[in-house]
Amino acid sequence: MPHQLPGPSPTLMRFWGVRGSLPSPGPSTLRYGGNTTCIEVRTGGELIVIDAGSGIRSLGQALLEAHAGTPIKLTLLHSHAHWDHIQGFPFFAPAYLPTTRIRIVGGHTSAAELRRVFADQMDGKRWFPLPFDRLAATIDFDHLDLAGDLRFRVGEVAVTACPTNHPGGSLGFRIETPQGAIVFLSDHETGGPDEPRIRDFIAGAVLLIADAQYDATEIVTRRGWGHGCVDEVMTLAGGVGIGRVVLFHHDPSHDDTFLDELVKKARARAGSDHPGMIVEAAREGDRIEL
Ligand SMILES: [Zn+2]
Ligand SMILES: [Zn+2]
Repeated sequence: MPHQLPGPSPTLMRFWGVRGSLPSPGPSTLRYGGNTTCIEVRTGGELIVIDAGSGIRSLGQALLEAHAGTPIKLTLLHSHAHWDHIQGFPFFAPAYLPTTRIRIVGGHTSAAELRRVFADQMDGKRWFPLPFDRLAATIDFDHLDLAGDLRFRVGEVAVTACPTNHPGGSLGFRIETPQGAIVFLSDHETGGPDEPRIRDFIAGAVLLIADAQYDATEIVTRRGWGHGCVDEVMTLAGGVGIGRVVLFHHDPSHDDTFLDELVKKARARAGSDHPGMIVEAAREGDRIEL
C-alpha cells in the first residue's frame, strides 16, 4: 500500500456573535442570536478571533473549559472601535489569566492608539469598574499602517486587511487557509465608488462573510450608515464568482422571521443570477468546516 501523507487539517469556524450595532437578545431573535460580532477561526494551528463584540464572552467561557488550565494563545483581528466590535472584551475571561497571550491586530494611527481603544472602555470608574491594567494576560498590540502594506501573518497563516466603506473607517480581513481564502467584510457599505477595490479584495475567496444589514427598501434611508444592502452583496459576490456567502451584521430590529425572509429572497436572487452560489445567514453558535 502506498504511504499516504495526511492532508492539511480542516479549517473550523464558529459564530459567537452575528448581530450588528447592539446586542438584541429576546424571544424573537433566539434562532439567529442576539450577540454582537465575534467569530472564531481555527486554521493552520492558529486560533484567530475576529472582533470582540458581546459574543466574545461565551467564546471565553468555552476556551476556559476546553483548555482546562493550560495556556490560551490567540490573535484578535480588530476591525474598528465601534461599540458592537469591542464591548465584549472586558468580559473575556481568559484576558484575566496571566497564562494567556493575546495579540491584537488592528488599524488606528499607532499601537498606543490601538491600545487606547481597548483600555479607555476599562477606565476603572465611569465606563467599567476595573481598569485595563487588571487584565493579567500578556496583550500585544500590532498596529497596521493603513498607508502601507496591509499583509501580515498569524503564525504560518497569511492575512490581508482592507479598509472598508464605513464612517470612521473599518477593516475587512482575508484569511488564506489551506482550503482557500475566507473574507470577513463586515461594516462595509455596499454600492459606493470603492466597490472595484473591494471586488479585488474578495476575488477568489471560497467564503465571504458580508455585512448585509439592510434590504433593498431599508437601504434607501440608510445610505451613509456604513452597512451593506443584501441585494448589493449578492451582486458584489456574484460578480467575482464567490461560491458561498454568509450574510452577517444583522440589524437589531430584524427578528428571526425577517431574517428567514431575507435569506429566502437572497437565495432566490442567487438562483437566478448566480447559479450554484450557497447563501446563508450567520447564526450564533453555527459552525462551518472547510
Ligand atoms: Zn458594526
Ligand atoms: Zn461600525
